Amino acid sequence: MTIRPFIILSLILLAACGQTPQQADAAETAGEKAPVAERAGYAIVIHGGAGTILKENMTPEREQAYMDALNAALDIGEGILKKGGSSMDAVEQTVIYLENSPLFNAGKGSVFTHEGKNELDASFMDGATRNAGAVGGVTVVKNPIQAARAVMEQSVHVLLTGKGAEQFAEEQGLEIVGPEYFYTEDRWQSLQRAKAAEEQPTGALSSNPDHKFGTVGCVALDKAGNIAAGTSTGGMTNKRYNRFGDVPVIGAGTYANNATCGVSCTGHGEYFIRYAVAYDISALMEYKGLSLEEATRHVIHEKLLEAGGSGGLIALDKLGNVSLEFNSPGMYRGYARPGEREVGIYGEK
Ligand code: ASP
Repeated sequence: MTIRPFIILSLILLAACGQTPQQADAAETAGEKAPVAERAGYAIVIHGGAGTILKENMTPEREQAYMDALNAALDIGEGILKKGGSSMDAVEQTVIYLENSPLFNAGKGSVFTHEGKNELDASFMDGATRNAGAVGGVTVVKNPIQAARAVMEQSVHVLLTGKGAEQFAEEQGLEIVGPEYFYTEDRWQSLQRAKAAEEQPTGALSSNPDHKFGTVGCVALDKAGNIAAGTSTGGMTNKRYNRFGDVPVIGAGTYANNATCGVSCTGHGEYFIRYAVAYDISALMEYKGLSLEEATRHVIHEKLLEAGGSGGLIALDKLGNVSLEFNSPGMYRGYARPGEREVGIYGEK
């Protein structure tokens, strides 16, 4: 692999132009990282969704807004991990930030259902205990990731849906908002375009060029060696019949196990459920001895691609190796480890 000389060369070039590695945010940079030999002090990796994200469709201002939001999210999670905080707190607080941003399809920026509503899903998993919690189809919980964590920690269940999940969140003292809180003009217009495209002969969800999977996710490894993962989404534009995708399905959109890895996915959820993508990464490492990179590349670029499933994932292993793989044109993403940070949007040139 030629990644080490590349990194060294990059560092020299960065030093020459007075930039620190931390400032090396390149919207174009992608996936592969040099393997970590000893456990990194901490590591955090995030995504803000994958899909048809192309530089030619982006204004410089919008690109900057995404890069700033990804960096701000990493600042929050990294700040917690640096101080010795838990991976669970880092994941929760980072995802809350992304949920509150209208840029991403989660929380405030959630997409609309066919009926013009917002139905939100989220999941949370603790790699130390393999406890997990999730909510599906909530319409009034401001931060569904908090509800997912509460299901994990405060209930005997794993997945709560609809009105019951909302009642539980309220009983837990979580912030409840009116459904109008989730309205954004951008997402409303996407629904109108999706409905118009539906009337065309080629109007399938996945063939809509407007389609982006803007789900958010975070996986963290803390100084104590514990991995946690969380994912939150508004689902897919124009979804019907109370559909939910992979996000609230543990093992599909989210998984964490201290012995292997933590994973958070984004993409066409039906495929991620059918291929149990997040758990598959962990299983390939556990039973076949694959490295994180081998497992994630195989699942995203072979298995899923062959099946026609588009999307990507972020993952990290117990040493702090990170993987940010996608088979779509782009994925909002970033990671940080001590002295190291990268944020990106598009695929490799
Ligand atoms: N995976 C999500 C779903 O199918 C969508 C996304 O990643 O944006 O609901």
